Amino acid sequence: MKAIWRRQAGFLALLAALLGAGALAALAVSAIRVLPAALAAPGPPGTPQAAQPAIPQKLEVSQGGYFYIILPGPPQQWPARFNGQAVPVYPAGKNSIIWLAASYELKPGPYLLEAGTDRPIRVQIQVKAHAFPVQALAVSAAQEQIVRPEDPAVAAREQQEVRAVDAARSHSSPHPLWQGAFIWPVQGHISSEFGLIRKVNGRITGRHSGLDIAAPAGTPVLASNSGVVVLARNLLLTGNTVILDHGWGLTTSYLHMSQLQVHEGQQVRRGQVIGTVGATGFATGPHLHWTAHLSGGFIDPRILLNQGPPGVAP
Ligand SMILES: [Zn+2]
Repeated sequence: MKAIWRRQAGFLALLAALLGAGALAALAVSAIRVLPAALAAPGPPGTPQAAQPAIPQKLEVSQGGYFYIILPGPPQQWPARFNGQAVPVYPAGKNSIIWLAASYELKPGPYLLEAGTDRPIRVQIQVKAHAFPVQALAVSAAQEQIVRPEDPAVAAREQQEVRAVDAARSHSSPHPLWQGAFIWPVQGHISSEFGLIRKVNGRITGRHSGLDIAAPAGTPVLASNSGVVVLARNLLLTGNTVILDHGWGLTTSYLHMSQLQVHEGQQVRRGQVIGTVGATGFATGPHLHWTAHLSGGFIDPRILLNQGPPGVAP
């Protein structure tokens, strides 16, 4: 039992690292449409309707949601920073778009988005708290203090895999690759919530970066939208894993599958089968762990179903 716990604790920590979890703060689920209605009108992806977009002074977004602004002219005019970090700017027709996650790791409060050089525009991003569920585990003090030395070979492979995942997400298409609304990759019940806070003896040990959708082993897994396969391989912790790039910094990931049915570099259409539900990697039963990652932060994938990406009516 102790051995199992130690192994699981190690895996959970590594899984958290791999998936980008690991922070504190309460988290969030829903995003808000942040554009004025006139700008939010559905149009073809990448071609927002307004010729001269109005730039808001302040936007509100919940933890785990997204926000965006449209700026006039090409991206070269708008080097941008959010919370002090450089962020990508993509072309959107004759305009530019900055589309970012309000990570569940951001504490609620005001943040600054700046774009431009000489007289940069400044938008206050007000991140609102979201009440994420908490999964509390109690273990004995002896168990909690046990630290199992990692096998260096395993640790090295895990580090390599983390780099591969980061690299796969780092070069997104400058143009949207999606077609219309996003769809559920598999039907099933949600067995673990997005942003779930894991606590061991009261201490936060990790965050759940996506949705776990329980479904029978072998159920086909569909591409939630069109894109390019930027990673399709077996990883130690996440098993058979596919990452799809949809452009503008958005990727979706599909973990623990029993089979991979696509290869890296392949273009896939929305609804195309990319694999089958399984329990490979660190998983206790067949399910699909599904994530949506947007330029450095995870968002609740349901937002893509309910609200769509910018410019697409769900
Ligand atoms: Zn999961």
